[in-house]
Amino acid sequence: MLGLMQDWQLLCHRILDHAATQHGGRQIVSRSVEGPFHTTNYAELRVRALRVAQRLERSGIKLGDRVATLAWNTWRHLEAWYGIMGIGAVYHTVNPRLFPDQIAWIVNHAEDRVMMVDLTFVPILEKLADRLKPIEQYVVLTDAEHMPATTLKNAVPYEEWIAEVDGDFAWKEFDENTAAGMCYTSGTTGHPKGVVYSHRSNVLHSLMAGQPDAMDVGARDVVMPVVPMFHANCWGLALTSPMAGATMAMPGGKLDGASIYEMLDNCRVSFTAAVPTVWLMLLAHLEANNLKLPHLKKVVIGGSACPRAMAQKFQDVYGVEVIHAWGMTEMSPLGTLGSLKPEYAGLKGESRLDVQQKQGHSPFCVEMKITDDAGNPMPWDGKTFGRLKVRGPAVARRYFKDDAEILDAEGFFDTGDVGTIDRYGYLNITDRSKDVIKSGGEWISSIELENLAIGHPKVAEAAVIGVRHPKWDERPLLVIVLKEGQSASKDELLAFFRGKVANWWLPDDVVFVREIPHTATGKILKTVLRDQFKDYAFPTAAA
Ligand code: ADP
Repeated sequence: MLGLMQDWQLLCHRILDHAATQHGGRQIVSRSVEGPFHTTNYAELRVRALRVAQRLERSGIKLGDRVATLAWNTWRHLEAWYGIMGIGAVYHTVNPRLFPDQIAWIVNHAEDRVMMVDLTFVPILEKLADRLKPIEQYVVLTDAEHMPATTLKNAVPYEEWIAEVDGDFAWKEFDENTAAGMCYTSGTTGHPKGVVYSHRSNVLHSLMAGQPDAMDVGARDVVMPVVPMFHANCWGLALTSPMAGATMAMPGGKLDGASIYEMLDNCRVSFTAAVPTVWLMLLAHLEANNLKLPHLKKVVIGGSACPRAMAQKFQDVYGVEVIHAWGMTEMSPLGTLGSLKPEYAGLKGESRLDVQQKQGHSPFCVEMKITDDAGNPMPWDGKTFGRLKVRGPAVARRYFKDDAEILDAEGFFDTGDVGTIDRYGYLNITDRSKDVIKSGGEWISSIELENLAIGHPKVAEAAVIGVRHPKWDERPLLVIVLKEGQSASKDELLAFFRGKVANWWLPDDVVFVREIPHTATGKILKTVLRDQFKDYAFPTAAA
């Protein structure tokens, strides 16, 4: 017997219809790439998204065709997403921080037919254009007045391009399992891999993300996604915010501390989300200028581990609640969020921070397990490490144009992360499986050591890698970038760890460097560091 409910397909453009109907006047304020702030609302944004859809269709873009965007978070990028999805085409966000070779590779692999590009990135594409074979037209996200002279094929200014149609158009209807968006994982080794979201997965992910114990976004919020739309599906915020009817503040291309502060203050932002590096810049700016954050209530920090000192500062100095989150491109991307369940809600001070150092618990739609290398489940005791595997309707089951099986027999995807889960379901990521340090048969968490090191007042950035050791197989090496103008001895830094971790976890040595290499999404490039120090000999190695 089947249920007798309506067949209402979970299509992403229905989110924008809802926002325009129920929250039509709610604003979307953007820092435009041209410079000035720009304000629109959901009702206007929907009208323009329909024009994008109609204009794409006139260009012959059909169901399943890929349309690339190489753009910052602005109202134009947002309406472009909805316009693309509204005819069943697929938005493909390209990360401008990738190496040019990788950009060329993924555009060809995705077979993008149209490229929508911000002014900032026109020069990058001009250099690459003859290698971007499938692109038939470049739409520059600006107006005629700001349109640069460019060699890009069939380049048109976006405003003129969408003005060529009248907007008298209806969204297409299709199956909710139709592809909606694509995002390539940065792939520190080998080629990037294409993750393909469906309308259904995006809608379910947004419903999940908005929940009170997830991001808790509502119509009274002003949401600023600092996380770029090109990073891991914007952590869902390009869909969750309109679904909730929240006001949006889009930071454009300026992500430095002063610019982010200006936007937080001008727009009275109540909710924001980004990687730790962004918050380091903001906190430095606040401190240097003696500023406060009176409007901000909540900040979601993820993408890499949130340093303890950062959570503490946001909460104790600025009165902003920190939600530590973990996820990945393959998960649309949210996996866990660190809101406090009743079992932990009463905690204060250091013990609250202890819980907030964990990456949190999974909302409905994400199932987790940890296993040993043979796939046997490990206990949720907060101590036993295991490979983290996940399952759910917004988790990838395959990569684009790749037949490789990526799920285990129970349908779980191996995240490549290693962690513990405690009895209340809180995940603690201890490492990437390839970064974990294997010392005498035991595992040492590089992330935990890095978090501690970052808490030292003289340390700007820290990385810990496993380096060959004749007796222990691998031992931790601490790589440090000191803050501007600071000096410190090795012993001083190592002393800082004593009493905070088991003695056998203490790094065997410290090296000071000027810079630590990063991936396109701001993560430490451990492969490069490991290569750099592969011949390193520990002073303890002779013993
Ligand atoms: P990219 O490398 O392109 O940024 P993802 O955003 O998909 O790709 O990266 C996901 C990975 O980032 C996770 O598998 C995990 O290793 C790491 N990560 C994400 N959030 C956290 C967090 N809060 N703490 C520790 N690691 C995290």
